[in-house]
Order: sequence, then C-alpha cells, then structure tokens
Amino acid sequence: MNSFDYILKRSGRKSLSISVGRDANVIVRAPAGMPDKEIQAFIRQKNEWVKTKRDIQIQKQAKPLSFVDGEQFEILGFAHKIKIYPQPSAKIAEGCLYLPDLHNKKELAAVCLKDLAAKTFSSRITAFEDALGKQKNNLKLSNARRRWGSCSSAGDINISWRLVLCPLQQVDYVLAHEASHLAHPNHSKAFWKTLSEICPTYIDDKAELANHEFVMDLI
Ligand SMILES: [Zn+2]
Repeated sequence: MNSFDYILKRSGRKSLSISVGRDANVIVRAPAGMPDKEIQAFIRQKNEWVKTKRDIQIQKQAKPLSFVDGEQFEILGFAHKIKIYPQPSAKIAEGCLYLPDLHNKKELAAVCLKDLAAKTFSSRITAFEDALGKQKNNLKLSNARRRWGSCSSAGDINISWRLVLCPLQQVDYVLAHEASHLAHPNHSKAFWKTLSEICPTYIDDKAELANHEFVMDLI
C-alpha cells in the first residue's frame, strides 16, 4: 500500500519516472502501454523516497507564524507552542513561547528569540574556538533571511538569529563552519579538513540545514 496519492500520466515515453513537485504532489510518468502491475511495483519500490521528498516539500511550504494561541513551531529542534498571556513581555518556558496580548507579537517574539540566540551561539561557539586554538573578535547577530552566517577577515562572526529556529545540531554546524573560517578564510580543502575535525558530522548536518531554510521566513 502507498501512503500517498499520485497522478499517473501515460505518454509515448519509454521508461517510468516518479517526481514530487513543489506543491508536494506526486506525479508518475509511464509508457502508454505499460501494465498497471508494473507501475504499481515501481511505485512501491519508491515509497520511502517519495515520503521523504514529500515531507521536505511540505516543510518548505511552511508559512510565516500568525502568532495565535496554540500555534506550533520548533526552537533548537524542540516543539514549542505559542501561548498568549497577560504579561507585558515575551518569554520562553516549558515548551512554550509566551506572548503578551498586544499588537506587536511578532516583534516581541523576535526580541525573545534573539536573546536566546545570543546566549546559545556565544556559549556553543567557545568549544569550537578551543578546538581550533583560534578566537573570534566579535560575535554579532544578523537579521539575514538568506544567509546563516559569515566571518570577516577581522575575525568578526555574524550569525542570523533565525538559526535558533533550527535543531541544535545545525546550529553547531553553522558555528563550527564560521569558526573554521578563523583558520581558513576560504572554502579550500584545508578549510573542510579543519571543519571535519571539529564537526565530524558536518556533511549530514549541512544537508539537514538545507531542509530548514523555510525557518528563515517563519518570523
Ligand atoms: Zn563558509
């Protein structure tokens, strides 16, 4: 049994193909005369691949938060719920982002998340600096939506505060990546070697980070 619906398109083509569109719809293309049984077997074989692809596409479509009570999203990989409460400032506690019932919920949420981002990034980057024997100059938060981080020649590291909406593993990857630029300003072989030493899981972490680009537009 397949856990997804699909659209079957028969044509003069010679082989079978399966694809997942940006809208997460599954399209199977098959030769005009191919028996259904053969098509079914092919789809069964691709079941896991389709499920993974669909999950990614659905995540990528994640819409910006509306800041209503009960809305869910992740902070550092942990599920959090938005709770509206009768206090003047926002706070994160016990799996909730508490927000005052004011018109500027989005700004208040951002202030709260930036605070968490600053604390998390500065405490986590020191382990990588120690491992490298290098020290950054300043660590600054950026507001970037298309770039997770950067490192200047002066050793200033900028990280988008929105990274706090990714799992900790991906946060560590970005921090280790930018810290490695303290040793190598480019993406040379030596850079990747250094990165692999302080962050051995970097290849998987980098791939998983690409699945989290949607969080940049969440707030
Ligand atoms: Zn880089």
